[in-house]
This record gives sequence, C-alpha cells and structure tokens, in this order.
Amino acid sequence: MKNIAVIGSGTMGNGIAHVFAQNGYQVALIDINKEALSKAMATIEKNLDRQVKKELIDEAKKADTLKNITTYSNMKEGAALADLVVEAATERVDLKLNIFKELDAICGDNTIFASNTSSISITKIASVTNRPEKVIGMHFMNPVPVMKLVEVIRGYSTSDEVTAKVMELSKKLGKIPEEVNDYPGFIANRILMPMINEAIYSLFEGVAGVSEIDSIMKLGMAHPMGPLQLADFIGLDVCLSILNVLQDGLGDPKYRACPLLINMVQAGKLGAKSGEGFYTYGHGTKDLIVADRFKK
Ligand code: NAD
Repeated sequence: MKNIAVIGSGTMGNGIAHVFAQNGYQVALIDINKEALSKAMATIEKNLDRQVKKELIDEAKKADTLKNITTYSNMKEGAALADLVVEAATERVDLKLNIFKELDAICGDNTIFASNTSSISITKIASVTNRPEKVIGMHFMNPVPVMKLVEVIRGYSTSDEVTAKVMELSKKLGKIPEEVNDYPGFIANRILMPMINEAIYSLFEGVAGVSEIDSIMKLGMAHPMGPLQLADFIGLDVCLSILNVLQDGLGDPKYRACPLLINMVQAGKLGAKSGEGFYTYGHGTKDLIVADRFKK
C-alpha cells in the first residue's frame, strides 16, 4: 500500500493524514469544505512544529511529511488511485453510506475501505458496497499523532486477509492495533461510555461533586483524566449519541443515558467546544477556567 485517501479533514482526518504522511505514504486529504482543508493543513503544520520542538522529528522530516499530502475537494479526483481509503467524515449514517456507495464506484476493485467511525456499524457500511470483505474499521484515537491505539474492527464479512493487512499497516504507522468484532460501541466506547454515564448519574444523584468524582478516578484508578472532564473533551452530544447507539443496538436499559446528560445537551452545554459542560472553558480552548459548576 502506497496511496492513501483520507476522507474528511476535521479533528480526526488531519491527524490520520499526518500520521500516514509522516510514515512515507502518499496521502490525498479530501473534504467537501475547502476551508476545512486549509485549516487542516495549518493544524498539521502546527503539530509537526511541536514534534520538531520536542526533537521527535527534524525540519527535513517535517518538509517531507507536508510534501506527501495533497488536498482535494473532489472525492473522485482524490480517491481514484487509492490502495486504502480511511473515511473520517462527520458521524452521520446517511452521509457515510453515501460516501461509501460513491467510493465503491470510484475506486479499483482491490481498494480497501476503512472507516474511523466511533459508533456506526461496519457491517452496515460494508453492505452498501460490492466489496464487504474489504471493508473494515480503523478507529484511531484523538489526538491521532500521539495516541498509540488503533481499534481494528472486523465487520461480519471482513476477510482474514484484509484484517491482517490493516493490522500490519497500523504497526507500520507506529501504532498498536487491537482486533475486535463489529458490535455496538466496539470495545473502547462500550466500556468508556457506561463509565462516563455512571459518573454523570453519580453527580445527578448527589453522591459527590464534579471535582470529587474526577479526582477519585484519577487518584484511585490512575486515570490521567476524570470521566467528567473527558466527557467535556469528547463532547456531551457525542457521548449522548454513542450511548443511544449502545442502548438501541444492545437493547439493554443499563445503557440508558442519564437525564442530566440529556438536559445539558438540550441546553447546548456540550463541553469544551461550547465553552461549558461539567467545567467552564476559555473561549475556543480546552483550558479549564472554572471547575465544578455542580458543587454539592
Ligand atoms: P469533524 O466534524 O471534526 O470533521 C468532519 C469533516 O468531514 C468536516 O471537515 C466535514 O467538512 C467533512 N465532511 C463531511 N461530509 C463530507 C463528505 N461527504 N466528503 C468529505 N468530507 C466530508 O469530525 P471528527 O471529530 O474528525 O470525526 C470524524 C469521524 O471520526 C467520525 O466518524 C467520528 O465518530 C470519528 N471519531 C472521532 C473522534 C474524536 O475524538 N473527535 C475519535 C474517534 C473517532
């Protein structure tokens, strides 16, 4: 594999393009929004500068990495020659199904299709293509250049050969892939989201305040960040939508979202990105300025 197309240049897409390009792959970074593409290139350059400053890479490596990325706003132009497509577009089922239907017509028969989706069924995505054995999940973690894990998700029809290729490729990117089967939430979110939800229920029921809950999980369980702050960083709307996927897909009431989470999303308090969630944030940053709006 040499040519990689990355669809979507937002938070995840720019990180995925960065990592492939840094490891010598030719990357076509594709987004329908031209502004998102220029923002993505600026972010990649800023993140490469950070790596240079930390002496993880030198200036020549930075220049090579940038040279390996070409941006496209037209999927047909960008994806036609790809050996692998990694889709990281907005998390909406209809949108993703349309992208994969279109890709199936654009790309060669041997092209492997991967999706970075957090919660949409890989089997469902595969079902709109004529190559379900070549469709797989590559669930990178945010921030992609830093986080080692790739959750590799086998759809119902994904072949052993394609799974082995994607596991191997992930290692070549310096990542650690872990193979899982395609059921709602896969592993990462199936375990993380109920924990976050339980932290929100504990707050809702008055068991403890925000800082106590986060501090207990940090100090007691060696988590680098408390569950409520992590929820703010992920986005409370994203957490709610993944919990709904778990409850719909697995049918177990243990996944029902806490009413406080639902209320906060309805009130537009989405966490760091809206400036307010369980904590309050400086405008446009993830810097905490006021902790604990929910003091007992
Ligand atoms: P984002 O909103 O930051 O970026 C999505 C990008 O997709 C936007 O730039 C948008 O213009 C583009 N897009 C929309 N429709 C498109 C189309 N038809 N063709 C090309 N580009 C299109 O979203 P994100 O946070 O980067 O998430 C992307 C995917 O990664 C989602 O499936 C999400 O579930 C998954 N994911 C996100 C995270 C995270 O922490 N943000 C972590 C793991 C996985």
